[in-house]
Amino acid sequence: MKFLVHTYGCQMNVRDSEAVESLMVAAGYEKAASEDDADIVIINSCTVRQKAEEKAVGKAGNMIAARKITGLMGCAVKRMGADVFKRLPKLDFAVGPRSFGLIPRIVSEGRFPRLELGDGLVPDSLSAHVDGGWQSFVTILLGCDNRCSYCIVPDVRGHEYSRPAREVLAEISALAKRGVREVCLLGQSVLRYGARNSVWDADEASPGGYTEPFPRLLEAISAVPGIERIRFTSAHPKGCTRELVRAYGEFPKVCRHLHLPVQSGSDRILSGMGRHYTRGEYLSAVRALRELDPEFSVTTDVIVGYPGETEEDFEQTRTLMDEAGFDNSFIFKYSPRPGTRSAALPDDVPAEEKERRDQVLLADQERRGLQRNSRLVGTVREVLVEGPSKRNPARLSGRDGGNRIVVWDAKDSPRPFASGAPARIRITQAHAQTLVGEAVD
Ligand code: SAH
Ligand code: SF4
Repeated sequence: MKFLVHTYGCQMNVRDSEAVESLMVAAGYEKAASEDDADIVIINSCTVRQKAEEKAVGKAGNMIAARKITGLMGCAVKRMGADVFKRLPKLDFAVGPRSFGLIPRIVSEGRFPRLELGDGLVPDSLSAHVDGGWQSFVTILLGCDNRCSYCIVPDVRGHEYSRPAREVLAEISALAKRGVREVCLLGQSVLRYGARNSVWDADEASPGGYTEPFPRLLEAISAVPGIERIRFTSAHPKGCTRELVRAYGEFPKVCRHLHLPVQSGSDRILSGMGRHYTRGEYLSAVRALRELDPEFSVTTDVIVGYPGETEEDFEQTRTLMDEAGFDNSFIFKYSPRPGTRSAALPDDVPAEEKERRDQVLLADQERRGLQRNSRLVGTVREVLVEGPSKRNPARLSGRDGGNRIVVWDAKDSPRPFASGAPARIRITQAHAQTLVGEAVD
């Protein structure tokens, strides 16, 4: 029997889907080449915004109509609970975000319909990886306890739990032995690693004298042979400490990029959201990173149209974004999620106004992205090759440490080009979202 996993949502979901693929293959199922070819389709769902949930449910409906064995996993399942079978009466199985390790057994037992919403992890399901590739996601923290007013994630992904450092390090060493060179550590709020539960054994000491669990983890991963780049996401601004900045400065493998969702530039809105930082505190965190390295890449998430967001609040967001000089940003139109605190407030910014604010911020980011990237023209970027450029296969594409996309003429580089190989590219041209250059040496 052949299966396929279809993923919606964030990198956490991408990672969970990869684990499911690995577990399914270990259980004797074969990965299908296409949807037509699959007997079993597993859809990993997102529910952070209403639209995301509808996409996953719609896709499941199509798969049921195509007579596949259809399963839904992930965040939308947890939100809907048993109601998922009201929306999709012929769905075969549904499993919540922490129970994906049960999927191979559910499929082989074949007793449908089946619903699993438990919070207990299936042992070892977190460290299952598909072979091949030089980049890998590694989950270090599950759930979230922050409870931002608008966010449904804590309800569906459960309480915050940090995996023990020795478990994370064993997983990364094993990946490195299989050829992985770049790891991206995942969690809703990775800088809170070790805040809720202890992660280091009492007899383990930090050679560099780090006291905070997350910088210590960066230090330990830096020492894993074979790992060349360390990334992580997502980060809550409160966790951007002096030790973290010091770790960026001391560990060259730690990429100088931070995705630091700000959500709003208005103190009034930030306080209503329960974000626990001010505009000023946020900007000083960004300043510390740019003092370390003016090219430090900072990216963000912003919500427009939060309940009660006035034109003045919105202007505050615009000016903050310019002051922070974001290298990239993701703008979301507010959508109330059932059960969250802000869902009790009137969703009073009209849809057209949300759309307008979205467009304004997107246009600002185009201009700002171009400005930021223009400063890099003439510099040489250290890039790891990802493969032919999607837009133009005569070009190769890769990313620099700042997570910036860099493209260059493939004929400048030896072929066949190994994916994951390092390249040095001199930048000749800047766009808002990409850098164009030529290979040196
Ligand atoms: N844990 C991550 C974010 C997870 S959700 C963090 O805190 O950084 C990803 C993004 O979706 C958030 O940063 C936010 O900008 C957006 N988002 C979350 N809930 C939303 C909602 N109800 N409406 C619109 N956007 C939302
Ligand atoms: Fe949601 Fe806030 Fe947790 Fe991020 S930190 S997942 S936005 S509650």
